[in-house]
Amino acid sequence: CGVFGVWAPGRDVARITYFGLHALQHRGQESAGIAVGNGRSVLVRKDRGLVSQVFTDADLSALNGKAAIGHVRYGTAGGGGFDAAQPHFSLIDDVTIALAHNGTLVNTTGVRRELVQMGVPFRSETDSEVACELIGYFTKKSGHLRVGIRHAMQMIEGGYAMVLLRENALYAFRDPNGIRPLVIGALGTEGWVVASETCALDIVGATFVRDVRPGEIVRISDGGILSEQGLEPRPEAQCIFEDVYFSRPDTVIRGRSIYSMRYEMGRQLAREAPVDADLVIGVPDSGMPPAEGYAAQTGIPFGEGLIKNRYVARTFIQPTQEMREMGVRMKLNALSDNVAGRRVVMVDDSIVRGTTSKQIVRMLKEAGATEVHVRINCPEVKWPCFYGIDTDVQRQLISANKSVEEVRDYIGADSLAFLSLEGLRRCVPECGYCDACYTGRYPVRIPEAFSAGKFL
Ligand code: SF4
Repeated sequence: CGVFGVWAPGRDVARITYFGLHALQHRGQESAGIAVGNGRSVLVRKDRGLVSQVFTDADLSALNGKAAIGHVRYGTAGGGGFDAAQPHFSLIDDVTIALAHNGTLVNTTGVRRELVQMGVPFRSETDSEVACELIGYFTKKSGHLRVGIRHAMQMIEGGYAMVLLRENALYAFRDPNGIRPLVIGALGTEGWVVASETCALDIVGATFVRDVRPGEIVRISDGGILSEQGLEPRPEAQCIFEDVYFSRPDTVIRGRSIYSMRYEMGRQLAREAPVDADLVIGVPDSGMPPAEGYAAQTGIPFGEGLIKNRYVARTFIQPTQEMREMGVRMKLNALSDNVAGRRVVMVDDSIVRGTTSKQIVRMLKEAGATEVHVRINCPEVKWPCFYGIDTDVQRQLISANKSVEEVRDYIGADSLAFLSLEGLRRCVPECGYCDACYTGRYPVRIPEAFSAGKFL
């Protein structure tokens, strides 16, 4: 998912959020929503679909306020549908709060049960709504929203970056391991923006200030910007899959663009797994920068071999297998002018289930490629993610169940190689990372059902 928030009295905060969400659309296409706070109340508009499908000009004109939050969703927990669309809202006495969440919480089943027993109504099965109601519950008890957020943070576990709005203040907070990203930007001299990625700051003309720190709660209101450490930070575990696949190439993390990291991954991959070939191509979009890096390192020409239909959502984040298989054909086509009669290196960002790679390899061979060598700019995905990326259950992860040679055979490639974990770490900024989908070393407790073998 992607989250966005803006505090800018006197500005058109709904439209700023709309454009911010546009820049984050790659993070989720199932639903979109905006909430605005106008000093007296909070108004929410959300629905299934892309940002451009959900909001009309009239909708945005009706959303007047001094602050706003927004959300684009892809479902990892709690199914889809209208009720799973965010922001969620909760009524605390006569105050409405709206919450938008990127990530997944791992321990909400028990919390939800307790809240239901206490008479709290739920509209969806999502972990995000549990967080919203939990904050509401503790706020009622303490009489202070910031205390409510802090207490909720003490109870919830997992990966989360959240933005929360009440009628006269905007809050942003992040899990104590810093798994999911969240940045702060300045909008001129009087406005502030928070967003999942810096590309959403750029589109609205905000300048990057800093990351929201792991465990930090930021509050923005007429009184300015305030920070408090809601939870002590734990060992840093930034999601490395953001660098490999999820974030947009023009996003900057720790002073480095995602593009430059992926380019380096391609160069490193070429050092680790060179091959004799005539052309290097990337699988659009995230495979393009590493393909350029691979070509630069080997001296093999880089060219376009696959054309993407940009108006079809990314296949990886559509919910069913059937739709995914449909999706590949709808979204990619091989360019036979370039690949026919050539030995092709195809660089891609990951192999999750293997079905997409298999179809692309077949497509390239049907277009005349004489050999297809697949190079992946990250290690084998062997473990499911519980912190907000839909890498699926373990039995569906092809590398959890097959050797590299067996995967090569399954996808029909002439050779297959993955970037090593050490190689990948050399290409990204130095900090603490979560790399659990490659290693199984989970930085935060995982659901008991998984440990008990239920997801296997
Ligand atoms: Fe990211 Fe993988 Fe960790 Fe999930 S398990 S947070 S995808 S690195």
